[in-house]
Amino acid sequence: MSAWIGKAAFLLGLIVFVAIRVPHDKRSKESKIVESRKGALEATLLALMGIGGFLLPLIFIVSPLFSFADYPPRGLSFMCGIVCLGFSFWLFYRSHADLGLNWSNSLELRENHQLVIAGIYKSIRHPMYASIFLYAFAQALLLSNWIAGPGCIVAFVLMFVFRLRPEERMMLEKFGQPYQDYAAKTKRLIPGIW
Ligand code: SAH
Repeated sequence: MSAWIGKAAFLLGLIVFVAIRVPHDKRSKESKIVESRKGALEATLLALMGIGGFLLPLIFIVSPLFSFADYPPRGLSFMCGIVCLGFSFWLFYRSHADLGLNWSNSLELRENHQLVIAGIYKSIRHPMYASIFLYAFAQALLLSNWIAGPGCIVAFVLMFVFRLRPEERMMLEKFGQPYQDYAAKTKRLIPGIW
C-alpha cells in the first residue's frame, strides 16, 4: 500500500472542503457583523487550526521533513478515512446550507441573526463542529505520519474545548428562552448521546 493513496485522498478532501466553504464565506459578507467576541484566544485557536489542518499536512505531502515520524500505510485505515471524509462533507455542506447568512468563522453575531433550529440543527446543536471532527479523524487515518496525521485532531480538540461554552453563552444571551428550550431538546455533537 502506497502512502500516496492516503495523501491524494486527503488533498482531494481538502479541495472539496474549501470548495464547500468559499461560496458561503463570500455570501456571508453580505450580512454585517454586529457583534464579535473574537479575542486573542480565538485568533490563536484559528491559527492553530491552520497549522494542524493545513500547514503540517502540506509539509508532509511535499517534503521529507517529517519522514522520521512516518509509519507504514494501511489499506483499512485509508478506507475508514475515506468513509469519514464522505460523512464529513455531507455534514459540512448541510450545516452551511442550514445556517445560511448566520454562519461565521468565529464567535460573531450578524445583523438580523436568526436562531436556526431546523434541518440538521434539529438533530444536534453543533453539526459543523461534528463535521470538522470527522474531517480531522479522516486526516489522521489518511496521512501515515505521527506529526501530520493527528495535527487537526489536536488543534480542533483545543478549539472545541475553548469555543463551545462561549458560543453557547453568546447564543443564550442573544436568543434567551428559545435557545434554552432548543438546548434542552438537543445534544451537542452526537444525537441522543452528548
Ligand atoms: N456551532 C455551530 C455553528 C458553527 S459556525 C455548528 O457547529 O454547527 C459559528 C457561528 O454560528 C457562531 O459564531 C454563531 O454566531 C452561529 N451559530 C451557532 N449556532 C447557531 C444556531 N443554532 N443558529 C444560528 N446561528 C448559530
